[in-house]
Amino acid sequence: MKLYQPGDTSKAICPHCGTLVSTTFAYRDVPFDDGNGIVRGILAAVCDKCEAVVSIPVQSTLTIRRAGGSE
Ligand SMILES: [Zn+2]
Repeated sequence: MKLYQPGDTSKAICPHCGTLVSTTFAYRDVPFDDGNGIVRGILAAVCDKCEAVVSIPVQSTLTIRRAGGSE
């Protein structure tokens, strides 16, 4: 899998803009899939237009699962 670094750029469909946008990887606080809490400092693809988190690379979803598994 590709490892992304902060400042890397990509393209993705932004659900907020509803179009293909360029994205920049940056650290963000991201909510869990179930909306129950937030993981801080996750590397995510951020829309360059509206700054919404567009996608989260696999490397970060692993971090989220690890953080969520400590009940
Ligand atoms: Zn957007």
